[in-house]
Amino acid sequence: MPSSSSSIEWYARLAGDSGPVFARRDGDGFRILSGAPWDGARETGVIVEARAARLLVPARPSKIVCVGRNYAAHAAEMAAGVPEEPILFLKPPSSLVAPGDPIVIPRGVGRVDHEVEMALVVGRRLHRASLDEARQGIFGVTCVNDVSARILQKKDGQWTRAKGFDTFCPLGPGIARGLDPDNLGLAASVNGAERQRGHTRDLLVKSAALVAFVSRVMTLEPGDVISTGTPEGVGPLEPGDVVSLELEGVGTLENPVRAEPEA
Ligand code: ZN
Repeated sequence: MPSSSSSIEWYARLAGDSGPVFARRDGDGFRILSGAPWDGARETGVIVEARAARLLVPARPSKIVCVGRNYAAHAAEMAAGVPEEPILFLKPPSSLVAPGDPIVIPRGVGRVDHEVEMALVVGRRLHRASLDEARQGIFGVTCVNDVSARILQKKDGQWTRAKGFDTFCPLGPGIARGLDPDNLGLAASVNGAERQRGHTRDLLVKSAALVAFVSRVMTLEPGDVISTGTPEGVGPLEPGDVVSLELEGVGTLENPVRAEPEA
């Protein structure tokens, strides 16, 4: 749902008859592409009605890079200081789920929180990128729920387990291209009640600087996802909840919450 300019494009990945396909939203339809939009894909001429489309995870990242405490108010609510340099961690691609897919809370993990975040989708290979190269290397933005098992996060001292469970990374619903990543509102609600509201102008490390920083650690590939941290208001999820995230220009990412079934 682009808000202002007609130069904004919105991409998604759809379940097609013969496998997943990338597509560009055009009015009431999706124009199917020959491949990923960041790989120079062309339109195939096939159009799918938007109502009939089932949205998948909009990218297939080789890695999902996240940053801790990138909003001052969230650092404060976690009783933690603002980091001197970005604190990076990874979520595994196996944690990804599509819009509408359940977040499954594993048995015995204790409190599990939602975290609404603006995520950057990388459009080209970046290695030790300058600020300009990083800015140009951002293909677009999408929304991520950095689902976090809070007690394990504290207990382990690092966050691989707490943030790496299957289904702990809802992503989507699509990727908006042409927006300023550092000027977007975002919000989270649970069962219709607002829990988080923030704005990416409050990011401590801005988008291009974060991408450049990450690229000095690891080479970024097209389709990789870099999430930019969560604003204040994180809170627990319970089985039966529906968590709904909103990112300006991207839309609504909604997922139900389920308990892990008995073995
Ligand atoms: Zn987070």
